[in-house]
Order: sequence, then structure tokens, then C-alpha cells
Amino acid sequence: MQDYSWSAPGGYVAILLEEVWKSFKGNTVLRGVDLRVPRGSVYVLAGPNGSGKTTTIRTILGLYRRDRGRILVLGCDPEDSCWREVVRRTGYLPEDASPYERLTGYENILFYAKLHAEGDPRRIKELVERAVDISGLSRSELHKRAGAYSKGMKRRLLLATSLMHNPELVVLDEPTSGLDVFSQHAIRRLIRSLAQEGRTILVTTHNLLEAELIADYVGFIYKGTIVYEGPVHEAIKKFNASNLEEAFIRCIDSMGR
Ligand code: ADP
Repeated sequence: MQDYSWSAPGGYVAILLEEVWKSFKGNTVLRGVDLRVPRGSVYVLAGPNGSGKTTTIRTILGLYRRDRGRILVLGCDPEDSCWREVVRRTGYLPEDASPYERLTGYENILFYAKLHAEGDPRRIKELVERAVDISGLSRSELHKRAGAYSKGMKRRLLLATSLMHNPELVVLDEPTSGLDVFSQHAIRRLIRSLAQEGRTILVTTHNLLEAELIADYVGFIYKGTIVYEGPVHEAIKKFNASNLEEAFIRCIDSMGR
């Protein structure tokens, strides 16, 4: 078991996983994952490619069924009837998401706004305005086909469609991967500003230095197990490191990698 002696802000946990196991056709990917995401924090699940980050996210969101273990998201088990309500309160950006390329950016936004608003024109307008604002795209950019967008513009558009309904829980799988420095910076700033508004943000990355830039709490995942979890500054201190990347390497080395 992890050491949970560190205290969460408000003493409340938005996402709780205990001993969660998941395999695909005999290939065990999650090996007893224990994880606690404090409400109102940015929690970065960080680890190398193939360590189980996406599988953890998809299992948390009920997209994969766990083999065993306990999961609570905003107090609800993904297999219970309360889950519909949790989905409504959650914004999720999958790693491999892409916009409708034949539609303009604006039409993409409008499409999702209509889905969320269930026909209420005032609500549609409100959602569109919020998404346009989050996207940071100019009026002329919004009226271009999304297929003609740069990778960074596509990602900002997708973030806008994932966040337009003002979710209290935001789950972003590798939101900055493959982007240039300006787009990465813009997305990290957006993540921090979402947290300042009191939301809970769970982000995955394989970039430990990026994790240090945005995280309040970090979970190191390695070969399907959380090998460390706690506040970023405590991770650096515990492993006597100068940054989070070094802390991760030392953590893994201490286990006899
Ligand atoms: P990460 O996000 O850390 O890169 P993943 O969770 O995507 O890691 O993958 C961890 C392991 O699980 C990989 O070996 C991958 O091949 C396997 N895996 C993930 N999803 C599936 C799936 N749907 N079916 C079979 N194997 C999977």
C-alpha cells in the first residue's frame, strides 16, 4: 500500500482507486493500482510509454471494466446507476481524439453544444461562447475547416469541446504530446487556470518535467503499479532529486529496475 499520510486539500478525494487490476486476454496491464486524486488539485499520472496510464484513465472512466479492485469517482462507482450524473460532471479528452475535419472549428463547437444543451437555444449560445473562449482561436480560424488546422489548433478545439459544459472533473490524456512549445504552454496555462477555478484535473504525461510544471500531486506509474504518490515537492525531497524527472528515475532505481 502507498503512504497516504499526506493530507488532501479539504480532506476530500475526487477519485479513489484501491487495488485495481486490469488485463487484456491474459496480459496484465494494471497490477493493483492505488491512487487518490484530491479534489480541486491538478494530479499528474506520469510514467513511461506502456506503463498503463491510458488504461488507468479508461478504467477510471468506466470505459474499461476492471477485473477487481475499488473505484470511486466523485463518490460514485462507474458500475453504479449514479454514473450518468458523474459523466455529466466530467470533461474527458482522449489521447487519440480528433475533430470532425470536414466541419469548421465553429461547426465542431456547435455540434457538441447542441448535444449538451438538448435543444435549449440559450444554453447552446452559452456553451458556444464558452468553447470559443477556451479554444483561443480567432474568428477567422474558427471558420476554417478543422482538417486544415495545425496539431495545436486541433488540440485547443478539442479541449474547448471537452470543457464547454463547465465540468468539475477534467480528465486529459497526454494533452500536450506532439505539440510545439507555444501550444504546450497554452495548454498548461489552461490546465492551471481550470484548477484555480476549483476544478479537479487528472492529466497523464510521459514528460516528467512537464508534470513538475503543472502538478500539485503526482503519481508515478511503472509497469502497471503506482510506485509513488504525493505532492510534487515531497517527491523531489523524498528522492533527494533536483527535479521530478530525477525523482522518478531514482524512485525506479531504488526498486532495482
Ligand atoms: P500508456 O498510456 O502508459 O502508454 P497504455 O495503458 O496505453 O500505456 O498501455 C499499457 C499496456 O496495455 C500496453 O502494453 C498496451 O499494449 C496494453 N493495452 C492497452 N490497451 C489495450 C487493449 N485495449 N487491448 C490489449 N492491450 C492493451
